[in-house]
Amino acid sequence: MIEAACHCGAARLAVARAPRRLTDCNCSICRRYGALWAYYKASEVRLRYRRRDVETYAWGDRMLRFVRCRSCGSVLHWEAAKDPRADRIGVNARNFGPAVIAKVRVRRLDGAKSWKFLD
Ligand SMILES: [Zn+2]
Repeated sequence: MIEAACHCGAARLAVARAPRRLTDCNCSICRRYGALWAYYKASEVRLRYRRRDVETYAWGDRMLRFVRCRSCGSVLHWEAAKDPRADRIGVNARNFGPAVIAKVRVRRLDGAKSWKFLD
């Protein structure tokens, strides 16, 4: 398993494999978080934190909920907030060890406008 941990270590998650692609999105929330997203099925991600150790943020249509550590503020992942069948989690790959993502291709997504990749 490969673990992602927030800065203080209170919020962690684990996945079975390193990401093959990362997404750098320029939408209003992602550009502020500076996150690099790795997408997994919900069943592939083991969340290793207590709910009381995290805070969540949802905006707009509130389809997604961003989960961050209550103590250090690191954004750990997003998850579906409304649709229980939505089987996708976006893991912020910035919380993996740097070596895990050092050679993974980063694609720039125009989430602000066209929803197309810019590269
Ligand atoms: Zn933390």
